Amino acid sequence: MEQARKIEQDCDTFVRVFMASSLPQLRYMFCRAGLTAQEVNRRVASCQAMVLDSLWHWAQQDRNVNLLNIGFFRQSPPHVRAHIAMQRFKQPHPQPPMTILLDQIRLLCHRDQEVLEFVRDLNFQMSYSRNCLGHLTHIRSNSFSCAALCRVQGLCTIRGQRAVNIVTWGGSVPLPRHLKEEYINYASRYIWHPLVGLQVLLNGERSPSGQMVQVVPANAPFMLLCSTYTFNQHHDGRVVEVYPCSYCRAMFPSTRSPKGYVHYTLYKSSETGESDSYNRFSKGNCAECAAFSAMFHVTKQTCRIVGADPRVTVQRLGVGQLSVPLTLC
Ligand SMILES: [Zn+2]
Repeated sequence: MEQARKIEQDCDTFVRVFMASSLPQLRYMFCRAGLTAQEVNRRVASCQAMVLDSLWHWAQQDRNVNLLNIGFFRQSPPHVRAHIAMQRFKQPHPQPPMTILLDQIRLLCHRDQEVLEFVRDLNFQMSYSRNCLGHLTHIRSNSFSCAALCRVQGLCTIRGQRAVNIVTWGGSVPLPRHLKEEYINYASRYIWHPLVGLQVLLNGERSPSGQMVQVVPANAPFMLLCSTYTFNQHHDGRVVEVYPCSYCRAMFPSTRSPKGYVHYTLYKSSETGESDSYNRFSKGNCAECAAFSAMFHVTKQTCRIVGADPRVTVQRLGVGQLSVPLTLC
């Protein structure tokens, strides 16, 4: 029940910061991109609807959440309340609210630093709340904020055209801890590239013959550069670059290993509790998953399953239609 109360509180904080800070920033970025006033209004309204509808959807996936405990809901007119309540049943699951917002802003940012600062400021503002006297007090980090961001860069040749520099970003799953698993299961099947999603679902399992079942690139991937950052809540949200965890090193191997294709800008292979600490919830929570998935989708990376029958494996994992065809060999 305590989890549900925190979600209700986090919803109010999220809506307050999103409306007061993120939307004006987004509006500024759309204007800066040269869109007409009409188009800016349309896009801001569309982003607002998508982000808030997703927030109401995910908040209500916790059956103990009572909308009447959320100030924004209580103060809304009846037709808005009805709309909010209906979001619980929306199918399929939308992406988490912060993921939707991140997808919008990363295309509009001019520099990498701008993406990091946007999320840093948002996290920082959302970790504060007003007490009964109207003073800002520090609370725990908001369940709907992104704890980590990952940047993946590749110099790629797409369909034989000239080499282009591609950068993708991804955030750690920005949902309350007990709802992360539900989203990760869903994203692994329907959103993430199979090279990410299938690996998360397989979770290092072995075939009956004892062989490790692996999903590997079918063609040599481009060399990718990967950097991951977290935000230190105790130092004004200071951006800190972090090591990849052991799960990510196994899923996206470093160029230091024979079949690796990732150059981690910060790398430490030894097992330390510290490097894995932000990943203690579940495999798939890491920002790397979303960032690599986006890169593999853009570059149309092919992959195959080794160590087990691919068709049987895909069926057993309950994966219906894969987002890219799997090379069966
Ligand atoms: Zn990781």
